[in-house]
Amino acid sequence: MTVITRFAPSPTGYLHLGHAASALFSAKQAGPDGRFLLRIEDIDQTRCRPEYLDAIYEDLAWLGFEWDVPVRVQSDHFADYQAVLDRLSDMELLYPCFCTRKDIQAEIARIGNAPHGPDGALYPGTCRQCSPTERKDRIAAGESYALRLDMAAAIKQVGKELAWFDRASGKQIATPEIFGDVVLARKDTPTSYHISVTHDDDLQGITLVTRGEDLFFASHLHRLLQELLGYDVPEYHHHGLLTGPDGKRFAKRDKSRTLRSMREEGLSPADVIKLADQF
Ligand code: GLU
Repeated sequence: MTVITRFAPSPTGYLHLGHAASALFSAKQAGPDGRFLLRIEDIDQTRCRPEYLDAIYEDLAWLGFEWDVPVRVQSDHFADYQAVLDRLSDMELLYPCFCTRKDIQAEIARIGNAPHGPDGALYPGTCRQCSPTERKDRIAAGESYALRLDMAAAIKQVGKELAWFDRASGKQIATPEIFGDVVLARKDTPTSYHISVTHDDDLQGITLVTRGEDLFFASHLHRLLQELLGYDVPEYHHHGLLTGPDGKRFAKRDKSRTLRSMREEGLSPADVIKLADQF
């Protein structure tokens, strides 16, 4: 079977050494006989900038990466993600949530001891209780809302244990419930990372998802979405994250460590690839 991998950066800043390491790992996993894809994850149009998109292509080409074209740019495909959300909605697994961040915090404080997941305190489920009439009226009145997955209903609908395989950590039993009723679309971003990534990995025939271990837990949820949507299940390989001299993870806010600043300092592509070859 041909290995198909992808590197999926978001153009919210310049790429840093951690990105180069991730891209290199992905390309190496595809090997000479596989396919290495580049995907632009720019659904958050409030944070993505065209100059960062151009820089992604430029920096990766400077490092000598080659990728299949056309590149899938997620912001060109909002209609696809809407169709996925419509399918989940037809399955009665989504509900509108009108809560503001403040409402949620207040409710969590009221409950006390709220359960926590990978992204913090779980949504207490306030809007899950709304009647169909109340939902209709509030939407008609123009109230803004997010769409949440009814996690218990989704797990019930699947009705069996799900597993996924990580090449670094082995077989995993999926525990999507750790996310609670996760948001799958927002008013300002009419999709979510979880929807777009699982849809695109299936559409593009990705056989091996490589990404940083900061997204390890997300795979539990992605496995559930794959099952609900009838998608193929890729293998995973979550790799470590590079840290700077201070022991902290590289982040886009660390402007000094961008690939372009390394180029400006006079490092060659080979120098940078050597530094990036860590996984
Ligand atoms: N777009 C994500 C990021 O820039 C990567 C998502 C993934 O590889 O699944 O962190």
